[in-house]
Amino acid sequence: MSILEIKDLHATVETPEGTKEILKGVNLTIRSGETHAIMGPNGSGKSTLAYAIAGHPKYEITSGSVQLDGEDLLEMSVDERARAGLFLAMQYPVEVPGVSVSNFLRTAKTAVDGQAPALRTWVKDVKGAMDNLRMDPAFAERNVNEGFSGGEKKRHEILQMELLKPAIAILDETDSGLDVDALRIVSEGVNRAKENTEVGIMLITHYTRILNYITPDFVHVFVGGRVAEEGGPELAERLENEGYDRYLTTAN
Ligand code: ADP
Ligand code: MG
Ligand code: MG
Repeated sequence: MSILEIKDLHATVETPEGTKEILKGVNLTIRSGETHAIMGPNGSGKSTLAYAIAGHPKYEITSGSVQLDGEDLLEMSVDERARAGLFLAMQYPVEVPGVSVSNFLRTAKTAVDGQAPALRTWVKDVKGAMDNLRMDPAFAERNVNEGFSGGEKKRHEILQMELLKPAIAILDETDSGLDVDALRIVSEGVNRAKENTEVGIMLITHYTRILNYITPDFVHVFVGGRVAEEGGPELAERLENEGYDRYLTTAN
């Protein structure tokens, strides 16, 4: 049982125009087995929230706290956060030149677990997870994200999640740029991880489409760098019909 607790989180970023506050008091708690959809318009700070929790150096936390199982995440290095059980699937996954998917996964698994996975079961696990995500075995020998299509990048992110088995996973717009088939395959991967590992999920999305496949327990409307409203899945339905306009007039 894990718990991620974000309390009154404020974060800034340096822009050419000066320091800009993006996160303006975020409160959010995610427990094992729960799926929280974070829904908000473009530019509301969703990715900033993901990066701030994961420890991206561009974002400075100016106040508030983030704890995982009572431990201060903000004091940890990015590696330590991963070892503590945190996983981030980025909205725009980065290339890792010269490193194959296969090597990358094994290195990440070793780093997260503190020991190398037993080779025979590992090879089988990777193959099984790739099969499930309908990934060609040849994919394992390609360099991470080099020339990957949008769909391949997203599948690779979910592949990592399925193999690393984090306690808490942040999925930043894992649905963006996917066609219907890829969306279903990726969603099935997320649902498998939920069933098999009780992972707690922060599912950041702009659209309600992915919520037809992955049922959230909670929906948080994210506007102007904070949670503007919270509810159950019915809130997503309302957003689908009404959009974010009603929040934008009152935000900022
Ligand atoms: P979302 O993911 O909700 O679309 P982001 O977190 O990407 O929103 O961005 C929130 C705001 O912060 C935007 O106005 C964006 O331009 C600004 N921002 C985010 N990261 C940076 C950065 N590294 N440099 C400058 N501005 C940034
Ligand atoms: Mg965006
Ligand atoms: Mg974003």
